[in-house]
Amino acid sequence: AKATPDKNKDKIPGLTPNALTVLEKRYLKRDLSGKPLEGPVDMFRRVADTIAAADKFLDNKADVKGLSDEFYKIMTSFEFLPNSPTLMNAGRELGQLSACFVLPVGDSMEEIFESVKHTALIHKSGGGTGFSFSRLRPAQDVVMSTTGISSGPLSFMRVFDVATETIKQGGTRRGANMGILRVDHPDVMNFIMCKADQKHLNNFNISVGLTEDFMQAVEEDRDYTLINPRNGEPCGALNARKVFNRIVKQAWENGEPGIIFLDRLNRDNPTPLVGEIESTNPCGEQPLLPYESCNLGSINLGKMVKNGDVDWERLKEVVILAVHFLDNVIEVNKYPLPQIDEMTRSNRKIGLGVMGWADMLILLGIPYCSDKAIKLGEKVMKFINDEGHSASRELAAKRGSFPNFKGSIYDRPGKGAIRNATVTTIAPTGTISIIANASSGVEPLFAVSFVRNVMDNTKMIEVNPLFEEVAKERGFYSAELMEKIAEHGTLHDIVEIPADVRDVFVTAHDITPEYHIKMQSAFQKYTDNAVSKTVNFPNDASIEDVEKVYRLAYQSGCKGVTIYRDGSRDEQVLSTGKKE
Ligand code: ADP
Repeated sequence: AKATPDKNKDKIPGLTPNALTVLEKRYLKRDLSGKPLEGPVDMFRRVADTIAAADKFLDNKADVKGLSDEFYKIMTSFEFLPNSPTLMNAGRELGQLSACFVLPVGDSMEEIFESVKHTALIHKSGGGTGFSFSRLRPAQDVVMSTTGISSGPLSFMRVFDVATETIKQGGTRRGANMGILRVDHPDVMNFIMCKADQKHLNNFNISVGLTEDFMQAVEEDRDYTLINPRNGEPCGALNARKVFNRIVKQAWENGEPGIIFLDRLNRDNPTPLVGEIESTNPCGEQPLLPYESCNLGSINLGKMVKNGDVDWERLKEVVILAVHFLDNVIEVNKYPLPQIDEMTRSNRKIGLGVMGWADMLILLGIPYCSDKAIKLGEKVMKFINDEGHSASRELAAKRGSFPNFKGSIYDRPGKGAIRNATVTTIAPTGTISIIANASSGVEPLFAVSFVRNVMDNTKMIEVNPLFEEVAKERGFYSAELMEKIAEHGTLHDIVEIPADVRDVFVTAHDITPEYHIKMQSAFQKYTDNAVSKTVNFPNDASIEDVEKVYRLAYQSGCKGVTIYRDGSRDEQVLSTGKKE
């Protein structure tokens, strides 16, 4: 049934037709026939009320109504949005509000299928799951109880994949998974190739878990040892450079596997006594312990510009409210499993990040690929991280530290209580950036004008709103020009457009891979968790180009890297008209 447009929608001035479509399709409460039972205003009110109510559990005299109004205001001004499950499920029966989960996969039939079941429950509730399959004994290894042979991590990954495919989350959101295998697992070579045919494991992103020892071995062009996880014993060796080259070649072929640096994730693990980090969530930005979940939220930097400068004052206010909001989410969240409930409440990780970074740069007239942009990125994220941590400490003064504080990295002489084991994460903001009409995460604009393949296979030409504004203001706007840009993919040599405009409206493909990494690293420097970022390559990039970026990511302190070479997969969501 076609959703009826909401009569209240005019009360949210910034809500675009695109955003309304997304909300109607997937976020608004509907009856069994699909008719919406609420409009966007009701939705944001439902979310604000539910999350603000947590204050009441902690303080009887709390001004819940006032807080709800403030939450409502930062969401409907699109200054801040929480991750999708919070918008969809807050104040509803399901009540599961987190985007990110990591589940353990143990080396026994019971544990594997227990984990499949848990995955199903999480996907049903709108969350994404990450796993390390490194504990599974390799293919062809012995199985004592049946005196048979094991089928290995890859075949079990397929079981998770099929389960995900089957659930499809009641039509709202398809499940997403991250699969990690350590580079010293005996099946690593097959893992690297497991998505090469682009037919299998479509519900997985895959990344190889690299160690410092391995990176050292790559540098020195020597062998490294493989370990059988069944008994922890060495069971062979591979040449590190060969494995590294294989990873790079495969990523060049079709974007996967990505890599994550396990030792680095664990160096920043805030609660090493509670467990070891072995995986991230599906898009890589949130390392978590097994059974941990995390809720994310993002500040729209495009709304934080005033009089040609960053509006630091407002940014600080929104950071404080956002940390309060995300901490409250932990209180009212309905967790899909008791283990997750326990673990999440004990560490209280939240992931505050940004979207609209490219918009902010455009508004300030700074090209994305400039040292000025890198410096500002560091400054903005340092500010958010510092203010976010003080806000979490403020909360701790009233509400107490996270229960696992003792023995955590914060448990140091002279350092006081803090409410959340992590505060900052840069999410991809794939959908919430559409709702906020913002550029996604810390990514550059994908294109100034582009063809979007929407859900039902129709194509739409979409023009970046800031560009449209400038084009109209300066009198060079025309529908034909927008189409020409969509075909071209870049403003580079379109002479109708003034040079200063071309300099600022750079897109993903105008930016060198080095600058993509520089930007990722600038934000990573002041982010507790990790940064979601895709390094875009043109179709004609070489394998060496990809290799350089994988190494650069390591050298510049990134926690992982994901690349994509234009046109290297059969299906891609966004495309510029350029490639035929
Ligand atoms: P959104 O914009 O919808 O809030 P993001 O694109 O920022 O979400 O993704 C954040 C995290 O949400 C991902 O890393 C992943 O853990 C989870 N996620 C994203 N898309 C899906 C999906 N289709 N199914 C399940 N989880 C998802």
